[in-house]
Amino acid sequence: MTRTISILGATGSVGEQTLDLVRRNRDDWRVVALTANCQVATLAAAAREFGAEIAVVADESCLADLREALEGSGIEAAAGRTALCEAAARPVDLTVAAIVGCAGLGPTMAAIEQGGTIALANKEALVSAGEVMTAAVSRHGATLLPVDSEHNAIFQCLQGGRIEDVRSITLTASGGPLRLVEDLSEVTPEQAIAHPNWDMGAKISVDSATMFNKGLELIEAHHLFPVGLERIRIVVHPQSVIHSMVEYRDGSTLAQLGPSDMRVPIASCLAWPARMDTPMAPLDLAAIGELSFFAPDEKRFPATRLAREAAEAGGAAPAVLNAANEIAVEAFLKRKIAFSRIAVLVERVLADGNHPDAPRSLSDVLMVDEASRRRATEMLELA
Ligand code: NAD
Ligand code: MG
Repeated sequence: MTRTISILGATGSVGEQTLDLVRRNRDDWRVVALTANCQVATLAAAAREFGAEIAVVADESCLADLREALEGSGIEAAAGRTALCEAAARPVDLTVAAIVGCAGLGPTMAAIEQGGTIALANKEALVSAGEVMTAAVSRHGATLLPVDSEHNAIFQCLQGGRIEDVRSITLTASGGPLRLVEDLSEVTPEQAIAHPNWDMGAKISVDSATMFNKGLELIEAHHLFPVGLERIRIVVHPQSVIHSMVEYRDGSTLAQLGPSDMRVPIASCLAWPARMDTPMAPLDLAAIGELSFFAPDEKRFPATRLAREAAEAGGAAPAVLNAANEIAVEAFLKRKIAFSRIAVLVERVLADGNHPDAPRSLSDVLMVDEASRRRATEMLELA
């Protein structure tokens, strides 16, 4: 049976890997909306290839180019944040939320409000909105399937037991490309982006290098799997073969293993609760040889500590942490601040006296996000 799908952030790393799987199973899917920030040529090519109903760019200055690129195709073209949310609100069987950053929150919430199934890659949206998002999921009868490989692993391991019987959840972390680099102050964007195991967008690659990715994932796990923050642990596992684990009260630990290829967790969401083929080679443990594990070094990489503190504080703190990190990463990628200043800036913005109230609605979250970005930008200039 053909199912309908929309992909928010279709031109990114997760978006393109989703389209790769859809392409391999053309008859199973009808594409409704494809969106991007401003990558007009890539978006238009995908919209034409998959016969999308509508293509949307977030950046309004790209609309004329998009219209021209889609001329004669019969595909609708639209631009701007409102258009993005309207496209995300078109009813579909599955929405893949793969925009990067809190910019994806509005469209993801619009998709949640139509009550369908959301394959969520956009972790910043869940980190910022927290209960505002999980409450909307329950209220609208939507289903959230985690795309993030660790959370997808946990989701799969939780099929083997009841959440009330979970003793702990362990998120594995590769440790990023800088785990063994001695001097972190001299790290360039090129070094930070060169991830040893995964091929990802620039922002999440920097997050992996700082360990903010794992910090955001800790908060993400806290919202997706309500076992209590103190039961969620992090272990560094450089081979990225085990994607995460769930330990039950009887002493059984279930783990999910697989190649470091996002098409595996994406496929698990596309086919859920069934399974589908992917072009993955069979797992060859003898060839891998050894799996190793280390405790995270929070002195060198304070991000996971900061994220845990923000999650414990609750309220607006995770949204503040996320916004400050987004500003810091952008500044680092533009070579305005040193790598080691990313965590310093986030810690300073979090410690700042002006605490916003706990957000209760989408507009509250967006206000906290906006205000924290402004604060982080000011502090960037002071630093
Ligand atoms: P990416 O940078 O490769 O792609 C991001 C997509 O979002 C693009 O289509 C881009 O056009 C769009 N976009 C960017 N800014 C936007 C804006 N302001 N408004 C609207 N659209 C915008 O990112 P990615 O690596 O594919 O990551 C996407 C999300 O998935 C992130 O939240 C990331 O943390 C998460 N994720 C990614 C991976 C991975 O392997 N890449 C793994 C796990 C989780
Ligand atoms: Mg992950």
